[in-house]
Amino acid sequence: MTETRDVMDVDVLFVGGGIASLSGALHLSNRIKEHNHKIEQGQAGKKLDEVTIAVLEKAAFPGSHGISGAVMDPSALKDLVPDFLEKGAPLEGEVKKDSIYFLTKNRKIRLPFGLIPRPFNPLDNHGNYVVSVSRLNEWLAGLVEENGVDIFPGFAGTEVLYDGNKVIGVRTGDKGIDAKGEKKGNFEPGIDLHAKVTVFGEGSRGSLTKTLIKHYNLDAQKNPPAFEVGVKEVWEIPEGRIQPGEVIHTMGYPLKSNTFGGGFIYGMKNNMISLGQLTSLDYEDPFIDPHREFQKLKLHPFVQGLLKDGKLVQYGAKTAPAGGFFSIPKLTFAGGMIIGDAANLFNAQKIKGVHIAMRSGMLAAEAILDCLVRDDFSEARLEQYRTAMRDSKEIGDLFKVRNFHQTMQKGLFKGLIAVSLQVPLGGSIFRSRLESEPDYVHMKKVAELYGTDSPDEAKKGDIKYDGKLTYDKETDVYYSGSTHEEDQPPHLKIKDLDICYNQCAKEFQNPCVRFCPADVYEMERDETTGRLTMKLNFSNCVHCKTCDVKDPYENITWVPPEGGGGPKYTVL
Ligand code: SF4
Repeated sequence: MTETRDVMDVDVLFVGGGIASLSGALHLSNRIKEHNHKIEQGQAGKKLDEVTIAVLEKAAFPGSHGISGAVMDPSALKDLVPDFLEKGAPLEGEVKKDSIYFLTKNRKIRLPFGLIPRPFNPLDNHGNYVVSVSRLNEWLAGLVEENGVDIFPGFAGTEVLYDGNKVIGVRTGDKGIDAKGEKKGNFEPGIDLHAKVTVFGEGSRGSLTKTLIKHYNLDAQKNPPAFEVGVKEVWEIPEGRIQPGEVIHTMGYPLKSNTFGGGFIYGMKNNMISLGQLTSLDYEDPFIDPHREFQKLKLHPFVQGLLKDGKLVQYGAKTAPAGGFFSIPKLTFAGGMIIGDAANLFNAQKIKGVHIAMRSGMLAAEAILDCLVRDDFSEARLEQYRTAMRDSKEIGDLFKVRNFHQTMQKGLFKGLIAVSLQVPLGGSIFRSRLESEPDYVHMKKVAELYGTDSPDEAKKGDIKYDGKLTYDKETDVYYSGSTHEEDQPPHLKIKDLDICYNQCAKEFQNPCVRFCPADVYEMERDETTGRLTMKLNFSNCVHCKTCDVKDPYENITWVPPEGGGGPKYTVL
């Protein structure tokens, strides 16, 4: 039976309540106020009365799914909220000290990036700010609400609504469906939100964005998206070890030279540090476990010394889109736009996306303002956003490092040499565009990589977790605050379990058990029959989307769970 659903009409709908959408909603509401003020002062034109703007957010509260390193380039924030300091932007500290080390198992070697002049130094962070994205998100949400924009936390967009070939909004997820798919006593059907413009700012590997890209073929002639997964903890450490705003990056240990990634340590206020590791998801070895590799980083004497007598405060994980310039899909289509991480707008060489997310939200808002003023929401008008992005400094910067991801796939050492030349050469290394393949195709079969189906246990790299410095996934998930309503259908959709039990078990030994940083996938073998069964601990999920990216058979699809489920980040 077809469900009767409420329909709500708004003018502009932002799907996803992260930095990009909140910046877009804030800028649009500010620009509408400015426009109306000018009309009141006598400028010719139409006043924009009662424009309704809504932001849908799957998290229980704004910011609770917000996570990044993060060091923020403040250029876009200065344009979005010029008095951000007076308005109490939650900045952890301005970067005044910035270093990068190459780690061996027991030693650290300071790399001479400081000798490279600033405009050409890919890792210079002076003048940037260390931020907690969950806090920044929460603060922006406050400004957005003060401007009269409605934010709906606890509501995920689960389906794109079309009229013919035009997007007209999204449907939110039903609430109160049990594990068997039956309605419970508290069942509430999702609502249909209709909008003149729908802006998709769902974040990295957005589930609806994926369907839009396919529907409109927005990735034609593009490189496939590529991702890194960041696994992160915030620690409180004894006073004086690191200043708020101090930035340390590491390369090398514990990752092998054929796996790209690196560590980060950022000083925060109140003796806290943001500590994490990025692992590029184009790795080959099915035994790599990004969470375990991060725990190993903490065993390095340098990091261990920083953390001594400290305590874990919070844990989280998330993918970041690392494919760069050539992986950005077409940003507009009939009825809508894509902004922020959902559009792969991330500078992997500089490890920065916050300012690009903000800028994309703001430029989307500029185009929407023009549509509102002219009462013309045609695709041609929306395309102004695409043109403005193309001409922006942020995209110009991405163009200069357009081959970064592809270059680092050649291994750390070759990659580093090429990358050092990339900025002065305007990004042209070898040739103007290097191709790439999706992350999942890089994974090698166990026998191919190790020469046997049963490699030596020592080669798999497992460690013991002591619960003081190193934590297993289960404990870390506790520190993420992640919870979901248990009696609902799992939001990890496995296309074919036979592939997991037969093909994947034999060829890759079920890498989902290792690449998921939240212990969601467990394979249990019946000792009598020898049969495998998958146990899905979906309530642990921290919504990082690694499984959606890295499964070697593309057998896992992440969809939003019942609204409000997921991590409860406050300082990540
Ligand atoms: Fe990340 Fe997938 Fe694990 Fe959830 S189930 S935490 S999205 S890898």
